[in-house]
Amino acid sequence: MTLRKPLSTLFFCAALPLVFALLPAQSQAPSVPGYRDFTAEAKVEDQFLAVPNAKMAGEELKILTVEPHVAATPEDYKTALYVAEKFRAAGLETQIVPYRVLINYPKTEQVTAYAPDGKVLMSGPTPEHVEGDPAGENPRVVMPFNGSSGSGNVTGEVVYANYGRLEDFKELDTQHVDLHGKIVICRYGQNFRGVKVYLAEQRGAAGVLIYSDPQDDGYVKGDAWPIGPWRPEMGVQRGSVQYLFRYSGDPETPGVASTPDLPDSARVTPQNQPHIISIPLSYHDAAPILQALKGPSVPQDWQGGLPFRYHVGPGGVTVHLDSDQDYQRRLIWDVIGKIPGSQYPDDWVVTGNHRDAWVYGAVDPSSGTAAMLEAVHGVGVLLRSGWRPKRTIVFCSWDAEEYGLMGSTEWVEQNEQQLQRAVAYFNVDVAVSGPNFEASAVPSLKDFVRDVTKSVPSPLGSTVYEQWKNSHPPENEHDSPGMNVPNEARMGDLGSGSDYTAFLQHAGVPSTDIGSEGPYGVYHSAFDDFAWFKQNADPDFVYLQEMARVLGLETVRMADADVLPYDYVAYAQEIGAYLSTAKRKAADNGLGSLDFAPAQAAAARMLTAAAQAQAAQTAATGDLARLNTFLRQTETAFLSPEGLPKRPWYKHTVYAPGEYTGYAAVVIPGVNEAIDAHEAARAQQQLAVLAQAIDNAAQCLKKAQL
Ligand SMILES: [Zn+2]
Repeated sequence: MTLRKPLSTLFFCAALPLVFALLPAQSQAPSVPGYRDFTAEAKVEDQFLAVPNAKMAGEELKILTVEPHVAATPEDYKTALYVAEKFRAAGLETQIVPYRVLINYPKTEQVTAYAPDGKVLMSGPTPEHVEGDPAGENPRVVMPFNGSSGSGNVTGEVVYANYGRLEDFKELDTQHVDLHGKIVICRYGQNFRGVKVYLAEQRGAAGVLIYSDPQDDGYVKGDAWPIGPWRPEMGVQRGSVQYLFRYSGDPETPGVASTPDLPDSARVTPQNQPHIISIPLSYHDAAPILQALKGPSVPQDWQGGLPFRYHVGPGGVTVHLDSDQDYQRRLIWDVIGKIPGSQYPDDWVVTGNHRDAWVYGAVDPSSGTAAMLEAVHGVGVLLRSGWRPKRTIVFCSWDAEEYGLMGSTEWVEQNEQQLQRAVAYFNVDVAVSGPNFEASAVPSLKDFVRDVTKSVPSPLGSTVYEQWKNSHPPENEHDSPGMNVPNEARMGDLGSGSDYTAFLQHAGVPSTDIGSEGPYGVYHSAFDDFAWFKQNADPDFVYLQEMARVLGLETVRMADADVLPYDYVAYAQEIGAYLSTAKRKAADNGLGSLDFAPAQAAAARMLTAAAQAQAAQTAATGDLARLNTFLRQTETAFLSPEGLPKRPWYKHTVYAPGEYTGYAAVVIPGVNEAIDAHEAARAQQQLAVLAQAIDNAAQCLKKAQL
């Protein structure tokens, strides 16, 4: 970490063409998947790579972060106009597409903690403030709150629930701690914040306080902002507590586009919102509550970084919550820019990033917007030189992602029919918080991302791919089974938490998500601002440039491919591995009699068909349009029409956000969640649904060879 800044300034050469002159794309011309002859495309890519500009990305970031721009505010609309202007300047057919979605702004947020004698221990939330960065002082900074919180007035005793994971609540059950009417206090981290509220609500809690513990992203990790990158004492993580594991998007219109003229009669009662109050806190405000809390001492791994022993409660402190949320159907604005394809105009390559931020949003999401704008800049230069993509390219700037992926979800629901032919969705969100490249993708696109990064220079020297492959981030306990391939750059699976969700898990569009990561303790606070970014993430904006190049190259290479470069052999192998893991887990859970054989046989048939399709992809002869159509339909084949049990909006049988993790992917979710719930009949039925989906995919692959 301390080496990071010297390295990037020492080894990065501002005269960029020199850097990638060392990496001529032509050197790999013979072997780029998807191309019969890469020579012409290599020239296009070289021309593209020369354009994204670090200084301009920095200027764009500064403009995007000049004001707080929460979804549906006038400041948010200004950023839409700015992005639209940039899209048009590059030659994209640009439209601002509005939706009307139900979202809340906080009118009142009040937390008061009392000692048994009535003495006030804390009254908050304290406005975000730190010496040395005036970011929190702007009156347009929205007070700390949770999107989708309930309104009301409650008073209750307090119970500490660690990270608010399923296992934490089970531990409280074991200790016979009754949560009815209680205020649950838990710390951020380990799962999606909506899951914490979901589990607390299921157990009868009256409200939830979610705070940022210094052990997880504060001074225990390193120096706090403005000295270092970690969360300062009064920094608060805002965020949505929507139950997005049920469905994402506008709470009132699951499966339907929430266009401005949609009649009220077409809207339903929200099913993805908590009913109880949830309020986020800084550790400055949480500490007096936790310190006063009595009851048993916590299990050792529940102890956080504050300088006193934590207790489970209840006792010692009572908390009063007052929450008044102004829920309205508000207008939001996606910006959509198209370049019609010359050969396959109905086949779309979609690339997107959200634009709304909880506050200034330098890292999240404006680093992604700046990177996308420089990718658009590069594509614009190609257009002016006479290039036309074979497939239609669609660049998208989503709104209201922070409230629950609303802009992207509504757009996907509106364009569902057309998206059956979308060959890929390339997402970027938290594009740059540091120098470590990371990516997640469907298995069919993992090698595609690796290949693209082999053509992009790293500010640290050599290629993004080499730096990525040789980096060793600490292993994450939530890494998916497919995460680590020996001697390969690691890649994750797609769960949720950003705008690829509706594309992949509702509409079946093959997707990727990329980012460049580093220590980032100011997530969703007022301090995720331009000054923080420049000091901690990317002083010379060279990682913004790197991300613009990777994102743009994904888009251009996919749009121009002769044969869609999906790797279904890898997909079949990963599904086989998921089934083996699930089978072992079933045996451990006393469900050893479940019959996995039909699903495993289907996976074996898919592997055979995939190997034959791969030969057809390599040969690249005959009717390529037909080959591409069946290759694309293979991903759609994984959708089940009835969707997942209890959450029919999620249709993908291989990937979904976990009901109890929210962000992290659950693989073969129907099967795994039934096993976790010890429901043998449901698990067997879901195995049959999965086997059918895998067989459908195998059938598509067989047609791809004929
Ligand atoms: Zn974001």
